[in-house]
Amino acid sequence: MNKNQQPEITQEQAAMLNSYLQNQPFLKCVCGSEIFNEVTKLKRISKLISGTSNDVLVPIPALVCVKCNKEFSSITEPESVIKTP
Ligand SMILES: [Zn+2]
Repeated sequence: MNKNQQPEITQEQAAMLNSYLQNQPFLKCVCGSEIFNEVTKLKRISKLISGTSNDVLVPIPALVCVKCNKEFSSITEPESVIKTP
């Protein structure tokens, strides 16, 4: 019954974040596309580890470029993304 689990954002902070976001460029895939699909990857936790009667599947959200199907990685150096081929 904890309604206030999420930190409250004041209207001022929200407005600041909004204007900040508007000045941020869209992140690009290595191929230059800005559009990504949300997909789900799966990991398995062995029942020997989880202590349950079956292995546990853990869905992990990921982003995949709609153009080249490569997974987006925030680890990718921004410089290498901006570079034009
Ligand atoms: Zn791509």
